[in-house]
Amino acid sequence: MQFRTRAIHVGQDPCPQTGAVVQPLHLASTFCQHEAGVWREFDYSRSGNPTRKALETTIANLEGGAGALAFASGMAAIHCVTAMLKSGDHVLAGSDIYGGAYRLFHKIMNRAGVTVTLADSTSVDAMAAAITPATKLLWVESPGNPLLSVCDYAALAKLAHSRGALLGCDNTFATPVLTRPLELGADIVMHSATKFIGGHSDVLGGLLAVREKPLLDELYFVQNATGAVMGPLESYLCSRGVKTLELRVREQCRTAQSLAEWLAGRPEVERVYYPGLDTHPGHAIAARQMDGAFGAMISFEVKGDFARAKKFCESTELFKLAVSLGAVESLIEQPASMSHASYDAADRKKHGIADGLIRLSVGLEALEDLRDDLEGAMSKSR
Ligand SMILES: *Cc1c(COP(=O)(O)O)cnc(C)c1O
Repeated sequence: MQFRTRAIHVGQDPCPQTGAVVQPLHLASTFCQHEAGVWREFDYSRSGNPTRKALETTIANLEGGAGALAFASGMAAIHCVTAMLKSGDHVLAGSDIYGGAYRLFHKIMNRAGVTVTLADSTSVDAMAAAITPATKLLWVESPGNPLLSVCDYAALAKLAHSRGALLGCDNTFATPVLTRPLELGADIVMHSATKFIGGHSDVLGGLLAVREKPLLDELYFVQNATGAVMGPLESYLCSRGVKTLELRVREQCRTAQSLAEWLAGRPEVERVYYPGLDTHPGHAIAARQMDGAFGAMISFEVKGDFARAKKFCESTELFKLAVSLGAVESLIEQPASMSHASYDAADRKKHGIADGLIRLSVGLEALEDLRDDLEGAMSKSR
């Protein structure tokens, strides 16, 4: 079956009791047992919940893994991965990663004696050079945040495995519609389900999909022991979102491609970061690794300083000034003051996050309206 068919049907059988075509929302925290000490499939909702299980079944199928786990947020999902690590272990992360992942690695995991190094994940050589005997996990994101850098998952999976480490990929920006890292050799795929999977800016959630059963079991153990599971209502909303995921993503990508090309031709714009432009250094890898489209995220630098970029972000009307991404409504933000404010200023500079950088999440509005909105902001912020 094709992706969009599986997104609607796998894990989403009609309710056997009533025939309801939509899975019921199971709010129960606990489940009756037949016999003391002999557990039925569900016993307590932290350990397992039918509504959550329906979503996990769909995601495991779409990502092509042994299974999936749903969490209260994307950060809870990443934290579950890092909670498998021990004091003395080392994480090698790409430099173009989500600000919250940066903060978790540098400001929380360090307390448990886990060290982290950032390296340019677009260069397999740079990543190879930064691996140490203690490296247990490579953590990368493609397209990366906020510079939309593209890394080669297949090459990085080979590298990680040759050095005894796991490869974890934050697939939030690409979604399984465009990229399926497990098929390319990655061990763990992570999503902020808050973004494209939910798709409507009304749910917070995280997901892990895992290639092999033993690692899945280990992550499940950590999840159940630490408790940051996705709630039933959120699971229900994510399952609803997934059903239209492919249609939304493909349409949002189409609009994003046109907007990126338009921005690249504007005199007010210094540079555009979008993997679908053939001037993007990762375009060739993206064309191979992403299925027919390049994502709905665009970053660009306006000519001028921090203040001009700030003014620009405050001047759009349809693009709402907000962090987050991937939903039906378009959003705009300034990474230096918003999504990546948790980076140290020096690291931000080192990793190319300029003060004039602006990030767009392209939604489902009409291309013409979004273009007019950006054009309006260009004149207002002049
Ligand atoms: C939002 C986001 C996260 C964190 O997810 P939350 O649901 O906000 O906890 C992680 N990675 C990326 C790429 C994100 O965009």
